[in-house]
Amino acid sequence: MKIGIIGGTGFYEIAGEKIEISTDYGKVETIHFKKSNRDVFFISRHGKNHHTPAHKVNYHGNVQAMKKIGIDAVVGISTVGSMKKGIKPGSIFIPNDFIDFTKRKTTFFDKETIHIDLSEPFCPIIRKILFQETKKYRALNEGIYIATEGPHLETKAEVAMLKNFGDVVGMTLVPEAILAREMGICYASLCLVSNYAAGLQKRLSIKEIKDMYKAKKPIIKKIIDGAIEKIPEKRNCRCRHAPKEGKM
Ligand SMILES: [Zn+2]
Repeated sequence: MKIGIIGGTGFYEIAGEKIEISTDYGKVETIHFKKSNRDVFFISRHGKNHHTPAHKVNYHGNVQAMKKIGIDAVVGISTVGSMKKGIKPGSIFIPNDFIDFTKRKTTFFDKETIHIDLSEPFCPIIRKILFQETKKYRALNEGIYIATEGPHLETKAEVAMLKNFGDVVGMTLVPEAILAREMGICYASLCLVSNYAAGLQKRLSIKEIKDMYKAKKPIIKKIIDGAIEKIPEKRNCRCRHAPKEGKM
């Protein structure tokens, strides 16, 4: 069974065989390794050199590369800012829904009309496994992820508005989650809360965000390793039917 991990900078560094996949959106580098008898393919979301900013990430290429490899289960890892006092920096957040405030292209389908259903935007089976694994190690929250365009962090006024609609704010879930569903791939997201969003703490620094994920990297790795072992090969969720069911 093949499992995909798409991670932010430095989140899940593993030694493995580098395999380049040609996509309609350019070449995508993956790292392949075996774990718990599964074939795991890791894609560094921000590219080979880790420096592609969130608004320039090759989301389409990354998801298409997963599809081309034959992967049908993907976990996305990222950092978010908390807009709620009770969701503390250092905790893990597993989104159950999202709102898209980006200006990005969120589809593969330009030549046919496909309206994929996002009533349940994440794979319920992979989400549950991430939940069970996270509970062993960390404080855990779930809720709504607000996706912003970036690369600037949000203003206080933006956060004051956005927290009425969601719980955390981040830049990379969209369009990744949507594109995965369009490809019929089971996808769920694991987020590290790296800081409070603007207005909830005095000021934000990237050093603080980096220090947080450095500190939490070993726990993220344990959670992901556990998930890789437990994601079942046969899943009775609807994810894989989404493109067919959404066709006009
Ligand atoms: Zn699924």
